[in-house]
Amino acid sequence: TQTLHIVGGGMAGSEAAWQAAQAGIPVVIHEMRPKVETFAHQTGKLAEMVCSNSFRSDDHEQNAVGLLHWEMREAGGLIMEMADTHQLPAGGALAVDREAFSQGVTDRLRAHPLITVEEGEITSLPDDGHWIFATGPLTSTALGEAIAAETSAESLAFFDAIAPIVYADTVDMTKAWMQSRYDKGETEEERTAYLNCPMTKEQYEAFIDALLASDKTEFHEGETAGYFDGCLPIEVMADRGRETLRFGPMKPVGLTNAHDPENKPYAVVQLRRDNKLGTLFNIVGFQTKMKYGAQTDVFRMIPGLEDAKFARLGGIHRNTFMNSPTLLDEQMRLKSRPNIRFAGQITGVEGYVESAAMGLLAARFAIAEIKGTPLPPLPQDTAMGALVHHITGGAEAKTFQPMNVNFGLFRPVDGLKGGRKGRKDRYKAYTDRAKAAWKEWLSA
Ligand code: FAD
Repeated sequence: TQTLHIVGGGMAGSEAAWQAAQAGIPVVIHEMRPKVETFAHQTGKLAEMVCSNSFRSDDHEQNAVGLLHWEMREAGGLIMEMADTHQLPAGGALAVDREAFSQGVTDRLRAHPLITVEEGEITSLPDDGHWIFATGPLTSTALGEAIAAETSAESLAFFDAIAPIVYADTVDMTKAWMQSRYDKGETEEERTAYLNCPMTKEQYEAFIDALLASDKTEFHEGETAGYFDGCLPIEVMADRGRETLRFGPMKPVGLTNAHDPENKPYAVVQLRRDNKLGTLFNIVGFQTKMKYGAQTDVFRMIPGLEDAKFARLGGIHRNTFMNSPTLLDEQMRLKSRPNIRFAGQITGVEGYVESAAMGLLAARFAIAEIKGTPLPPLPQDTAMGALVHHITGGAEAKTFQPMNVNFGLFRPVDGLKGGRKGRKDRYKAYTDRAKAAWKEWLSA
């Protein structure tokens, strides 16, 4: 049998190791901690949770991350088993005792007869053997350089700059309109790439006041060391002058309000299509370090977004991630070196659960390859499938930023009501469809 090498024993690497070893494949986990440290990890244990202790919602009928929990449990996932074993009371969310969780994962992996843990940093991309790189948002500098050299510097980012993303069907189109600036765009796809929300002077001034007064988060100590290259948060732009945004991302030029063509808006907030399905739009240039509660309050002041629902809120973090839509194939292999797969946060998913999920999937693909037993195509209607499809092809490559799992990534179910009214039924239909498809794929 051939060995599977896994670089990084975090959320993704730990799950990948478990899946492969349970399938009878010898695994070596290469983990640099505790020899080499990161600014966020505190221990030398596997699957350390670096910040919150929450796996978010456990509702697998109405919530996409809950559905991902469900799919991982069905697949015998170790991360979910340990989260369930060490859970703490937290209402509908799955919160865990982080120490016991990480110790539990470490013990199970170290005790597995097919798993070896080798301490030490990997600094290059190997030419042969089966490898999964799951080195996470804080990938070591030397390895980051090796990946950038292989993939071209523009394809690897060291910070994310996430603008909030809204569900297209929650934008009030009696106020917003669809138009690209100066009506640029050859194809239908390009012409339907932007939604615009107009502001009067009064609305703009109130918006700036709210931005300036909002609650913000700070960078962690050590987070910006030697890296941050000035992708300014929107509130920092506002702080530089009240007109800065009106001459920046909110400039009203080249646009005509379809609902009121005679009156030029004082400022315009633009939303750009975020996926090929057209179900998600991001607010252009609105990366922010405002706290989540403040973001929803402030962004709902934008005309047309009063009732907007957010698929994800904005943020800026130290985060090494690759341009997966251009670099990875649908089985998460590096196109230029197919003996290497990537998994976890470095592939442009975001969150403990999503990272572990991508580890599970990468391992399943690797197992099939090593055993020479091809898998049927992964159903896109599962949470796993929707997420991996998004990062390896469904997302717009040019503006690619890390993504949480959410129902906007799912193909619509036919014959259901849109909008707020139909939401509960729609989510139930998505999760029912996903569960059936995931069971079928796992049994194949
Ligand atoms: P990790 O869990 O970070 O695992 C990667 C592993 O690779 C690490 O153990 C690292 O030591 C090792 N490694 C790196 N380089 C090398 C190398 N060259 N050789 C060998 N080993 C290497 N997500 C949430 O859901 N909730 C949160 O609250 C949250 N907070 C976060 C806070 C911070 C400061 C950061 C950076 C991220 C946060 N995330 C959070 C995002 C993300 O979900 C987690 O970082 C998650 O752990 C990612 O899983 P992973 O397996 O991809 O990476």
